Amino acid sequence: MKKKDFDYIAKVEKAIEARYGSEAVQNPKANWDEEKEKEYLDQIKLLLEKENKRKEKNQKVEKDGFLISKKLLNKSSREKCPVCGIYSFKTRDDFYFNRYSCCHECYLIFVEDDSYIFEQESPRKERWRLGWRPSKDEVERRRFKKDVGRGA
Ligand SMILES: [Zn+2]
Repeated sequence: MKKKDFDYIAKVEKAIEARYGSEAVQNPKANWDEEKEKEYLDQIKLLLEKENKRKEKNQKVEKDGFLISKKLLNKSSREKCPVCGIYSFKTRDDFYFNRYSCCHECYLIFVEDDSYIFEQESPRKERWRLGWRPSKDEVERRRFKKDVGRGA
């Protein structure tokens, strides 16, 4: 291992010790061998991941002028379709939420393009990717099949 790596580990060790106490990090200075070193590094990696998860969980993000928990935001944006506003807990919708930021139904109506099914990216998909979204009226009319008093 390079000296730089040891410096880094020493820093991490100190930070972990400050948070979890000295018993959290056990430096096997005696009987140091490759296997022990690996074990030690794995231990540090695990604690780092734990620390990062904790940080991420407490991270606040601003939305509409309010500070809310990032965890909460991720959760709610996964469950509520930004296009039609319907909450979904279906796993199938997760895929479309992640990929197209809308539910499966909205994808079928507003994003998918049968005539370009073998193309990498159809004009409709590209338009969507670039940020185009249907108007409220269009969503009402096509997604919910409501007559909103406007011609098609
Ligand atoms: Zn939707």
